[in-house]
Amino acid sequence: MRIALVSAEVWPLSKTGGLADYVFSLSNALASLGHSVDVITPDYSSKESSPAVAQLNGTEGVTFSRQRMNGWTAVKAASPALFAREKLYGYEDDYRRFALFSKAAASYIVSEGYDVVHCNDWPTGYIPLLLKQAKSSIPSLFTIHNMEFQGISPPELLDEIGISRSHFHMGGVEYYGNVSSMKAGIVYSDALVTVSPTYSREIQTPEFGFGMDGIIRKHSSKLSGILNGIDYKMWDPSGDAEIRATFSSSSMGGKDMCKSFLQREFSLPQVRRPLLAFIGRLWKQKGMDLLLDALPSVRGSYQLIVLGTGDTELMRRIENVSSANPAVRAIMRYDEKLAHRIYSAADIFIMPSRFEPCGLGQMISMRYGTVPVVRKTGGLADTVHNFDRRTGEGEGFVFIDSSPQELADAISAAIRTYSDRDRWKNLVGNCMNHDFSWETSAGRYLSLYSSLASVASKLSE
Ligand code: ADP
Repeated sequence: MRIALVSAEVWPLSKTGGLADYVFSLSNALASLGHSVDVITPDYSSKESSPAVAQLNGTEGVTFSRQRMNGWTAVKAASPALFAREKLYGYEDDYRRFALFSKAAASYIVSEGYDVVHCNDWPTGYIPLLLKQAKSSIPSLFTIHNMEFQGISPPELLDEIGISRSHFHMGGVEYYGNVSSMKAGIVYSDALVTVSPTYSREIQTPEFGFGMDGIIRKHSSKLSGILNGIDYKMWDPSGDAEIRATFSSSSMGGKDMCKSFLQREFSLPQVRRPLLAFIGRLWKQKGMDLLLDALPSVRGSYQLIVLGTGDTELMRRIENVSSANPAVRAIMRYDEKLAHRIYSAADIFIMPSRFEPCGLGQMISMRYGTVPVVRKTGGLADTVHNFDRRTGEGEGFVFIDSSPQELADAISAAIRTYSDRDRWKNLVGNCMNHDFSWETSAGRYLSLYSSLASVASKLSE
């Protein structure tokens, strides 16, 4: 099949979170199954359109160039005014930047004639509608990675990107007098996917729907949940070039060495004490505030390393805790290489998210034999089961309410189990033997693509 994936991020060209990993891994998996994959994405690096690269179809001052990646092709949309900025997002005109990207991408898609288009989150939400408006028969799938961000803007945007005002109504793109690109993706796509089965049910409720639960319920017949995988080449304890010593479930010596190296790197005493870790965006969603509030109630001794950036107030609180507590280290930056060293060295990975569409951190940590402590929500609920001391089943410690006390109890249970070497070995084995590779999920996406493409070809006959 000829597949177009459209995304605001793709590793290794750009990344702020799991979306970049997702597009990279899915493209690799689809390409290795013999499909042709173009990833259409903004070019954040280009300060000017280079005359050396082929200038393909452009609209709105956006030019496209093709760059061959590992088995797939990045189709980079360049517009210095829209994309060459310090950060990927966080600007007042974000909704306009990505709407113009979507408009240019839609016209590129129509001219290329793919079998299926797979859009991701609000930055690409207008594409299914733009395709329908252009009377294109190319079917579209829209994946929701995070319902919190919805691309809401004044309705005048529709005129700018050439969407007819006939779509400005409650069953279309209108959202309380404004327009929303997330809603456009939900309404006009041919299939809707969330990145875990539990999240597909949660977003149909007011608690997790961020105001879109009604429209999701209305379109629930085309909604399914496909759990993400992780890239097994990128995240591989037995061959990871970023870590100090490699290891596998049958030979765990290297993990101890990784831990000693990391303790030394951060001047932590080299004692047999569980090393806890948190890696992630410091955002209310991720529950770092819960962790900070939980720490005083945790029973048992531990060391803790936090790697993350985000909310300034949260970063200040974490730095205060780390200066007051000699067992806590805070690294307030984005550091991919350090993330590898932490995943490999830590004993316990903490992910107390308030909501979590899928979550990669818990799967990566399990692959590195680092036992997760998670809240039972979204993809965390689908990937981590509470450890049962009697049967020896389960991969981690799961708590239910977003309360510091419940989190403290779950961390305390993990610390207690850590001191029981046999049980811990069994638990680490359960984590490492889990299969989170992309093959199964890529197969699910492919069968969805094929059924969309066959319906589309019957309709156009
Ligand atoms: P989200 O996409 O909501 O941010 P995920 O768990 O799906 O969360 O994916 C987060 C990804 O980003 C993981 O690969 C994680 O290791 C990485 N990551 C998050 N914060 C940092 C950081 N400060 N440094 C390095 N990697 C990070």
